Amino acid sequence: MALIVRSSPLHGAGVYTTTPIESGERVLEYTGPRLTKKQTEGMYADSEVTYLFGMQDGKTVIDGFGTAAFVNHSCDPNCETDQINRRIWIIAARDIKAGEELTYDYNLYDVDPGDDAPCYCGTKECRGTMLCPDEVARHKRIMAQRKRRREQKRSKQARRKVA
Ligand SMILES: [Zn+2]
Repeated sequence: MALIVRSSPLHGAGVYTTTPIESGERVLEYTGPRLTKKQTEGMYADSEVTYLFGMQDGKTVIDGFGTAAFVNHSCDPNCETDQINRRIWIIAARDIKAGEELTYDYNLYDVDPGDDAPCYCGTKECRGTMLCPDEVARHKRIMAQRKRRREQKRSKQARRKVA
């Protein structure tokens, strides 16, 4: 297996394989400093991208550093991620041909509700966002709540004007 990082039509740089990869093969480890969730708060707040990868314990976050951090998102990816013995692996989800760009579904969560992380992967399966479905639902709930609060505030002001 030989991987290269070069510019990608999806976003910035991407990771490509120059040799075929078999379905199920471990392709790359997602490496980087391990931080607590608290330490990572706001780290990529002003950035279009995030390199944070949350582990299954819900507390540890890897701040991606290395080739795996350049793997782009797709809603119809050729790789998936799995945690094996406290390590995160990017694994081929199907046979991948030489020259293909590697992708996996970011399934983002813990994203600021104002940010719907639009996806431009262009696949037929594209759901228009890199957020995971639960996160999309959470954002909808919070935005509806904020709208209700704004409306309540407005109606109070209206009453005050009348009084
Ligand atoms: Zn997409």
